[in-house]
Amino acid sequence: MMIIAIDGPAGSGKGTIAKEIALKYNLAHLETGLLYRALAFKVFENKIELENRTQIIKVAATITLDDLENVKLRSEEIGNLASKVATFPEVRQALLEFQRNFANSPPPSFNGAVLDGRDIGTFVCPQANIKLYITAQLEVRAERRLKELQNRGIESIYTAVIQNMRDRDLRDASRQQAPLKIAKDAHIIDTSSLSFDDMLKQSIAVIEQHLKK
Ligand code: C5P
Repeated sequence: MMIIAIDGPAGSGKGTIAKEIALKYNLAHLETGLLYRALAFKVFENKIELENRTQIIKVAATITLDDLENVKLRSEEIGNLASKVATFPEVRQALLEFQRNFANSPPPSFNGAVLDGRDIGTFVCPQANIKLYITAQLEVRAERRLKELQNRGIESIYTAVIQNMRDRDLRDASRQQAPLKIAKDAHIIDTSSLSFDDMLKQSIAVIEQHLKK
């Protein structure tokens, strides 16, 4: 059974790559950012204060796959709040088991699992067969996010999007528990000047090379 870990910052292209790789290799796909987003959404909807950690940790333990379907999870506001609750070590612990279960026991019709996130190769699945670290320059990632928001009919301002991304990157990279970091054995792909087809081709090339071994 194959486990592929794909990490990287927001807007790097890791989610899109993970989705395509899941289809190509018949792997179950878990976008782990959605777990933190689903928690943030519940915190927001139930008006739970960020200071009320005990309550937030309780809610973290109730997240299921069904919670991840909500399109409202994709907003910038929820992404921001997600990166705040993601700094709580107890929250990360509560979501850890969910992610490891998914990776180790995907439905039997699949050949394995691909998880994308920030700490998959370093922390959630350090034993993953293949690790990719997808990155891109901040400006490129902000442009992509701006386009994505516009495509969904959400008018946004570039300076606000880039600032938001910078804040989130900093929070993700500087938190104590499982920060965004490149795993020692990860293959790094910089997608700044790559088209979607090319980033996918490079990722597949890494996987194919590994499968030949
Ligand atoms: O990937 P996405 O932008 O949806 O993730 C939202 C937030 O969830 C991230 O900014 C990060 O703080 C948190 N996250 C995390 N660990 C992961 C995936 C996401 O801390 N494995």
